[in-house]
Amino acid sequence: MTYRAEYLWIDGTVPTPEIRSKTKILADGETPGIWGYDGSSTNQATGDNSDVVLQPVFQCPDPIRGGDNILVLCETQLTADLAPHPTNTRAGAREALDKYSSQEPWFGMEQEYTMLDPGTGWPFGFPPNGYPGPQGPYYCGVGAVKIAGRDLVEEHTDLCIEAGLMISGTNAEVMPGQWEFQIGPADTVTVGDHLWIARYLLYRVGEKHGVEISLDAKPMKGDWNGAGMHTNFSTNAMRENYDAIVKAAESLGAEGKPQEHLAGYGVGIEERLTGEHETQRYDQYSYGVSDRGASVRIPWQVAKDQKGYIEDRRPNANADPYVVARLITNTACSVLA
Ligand code: ADP
Ligand code: MN
Ligand code: MN
Ligand code: MN
Repeated sequence: MTYRAEYLWIDGTVPTPEIRSKTKILADGETPGIWGYDGSSTNQATGDNSDVVLQPVFQCPDPIRGGDNILVLCETQLTADLAPHPTNTRAGAREALDKYSSQEPWFGMEQEYTMLDPGTGWPFGFPPNGYPGPQGPYYCGVGAVKIAGRDLVEEHTDLCIEAGLMISGTNAEVMPGQWEFQIGPADTVTVGDHLWIARYLLYRVGEKHGVEISLDAKPMKGDWNGAGMHTNFSTNAMRENYDAIVKAAESLGAEGKPQEHLAGYGVGIEERLTGEHETQRYDQYSYGVSDRGASVRIPWQVAKDQKGYIEDRRPNANADPYVVARLITNTACSVLA
């Protein structure tokens, strides 16, 4: 008898890396070991030295195939010395977590996305060649006029739960055809592992339904909300006292830090962080309680309890969760130590 391991890895697509996968058929009792692929087809190698190594780092049940089949998430490595490939951003997240593990950093990421008709590129819920009524009734809405694609959302949620991912909720978003799921709370590395696999499962559900899933940060120009990946963050100190909450929020605004972080927060930051549509402008840093127009929000419950977490509202939907988690861990934990 055999079972199948779907090997997943992050490619070198510029400017936004994407997830790729291929299938390995294994004999019962055989474990999924090191593997490789043609990096010249994923923007990760030249044709004359094309092999890139797949190093399994995390696995879970494959909820699409079911049975004994599994998903195997891999880091990419160089053949010469098995060092991390330059595009391997998980390695940086690992280093950050190793350095600050005693602070127990946790992340909850809110992945927004947009469902598109693959033929027209037009969002689900938008009439053909036209626009729906203005934003207002769609966020967390219900009913056929306001909502499109809920079956797909429910199917994706079931798959995430069956795979054992730390999915913590879903909601319909402010623009029609836009949805969100949340992963967390999980550590600096695990949040990225689970989020990348959840993205993979979402694309797979989209294939089945003939729906394109877009992580574009501003899929519709004009008076429509963009798509972000709000990143909620805490350490053991922040979960215990408010001083640490303020310190963490301040650290993200320290000299040079906003620029360093925005460079790793995804493509199209200036288009999305305009100061409109529940964002702070990309060239300003601010934090505040309950403030959805700030770069960083302190939820009201956190101000009330005097402990908890902060929400960095700046990352784009198309950001790499490993990069976002590495940046926040290094910046905040270095002042909280
Ligand atoms: P919003 O109110 O901004 O829409 P969501 O409910 O969508 O927030 O997402 C909040 C996320 O924060 C969830 O993924 C949740 O698991 C996560 N979270 C909750 N507590 C913490 C914490 N202490 N540290 C980090 N993340 C947390
Ligand atoms: Mn949310
Ligand atoms: Mn949202
Ligand atoms: Mn949020």
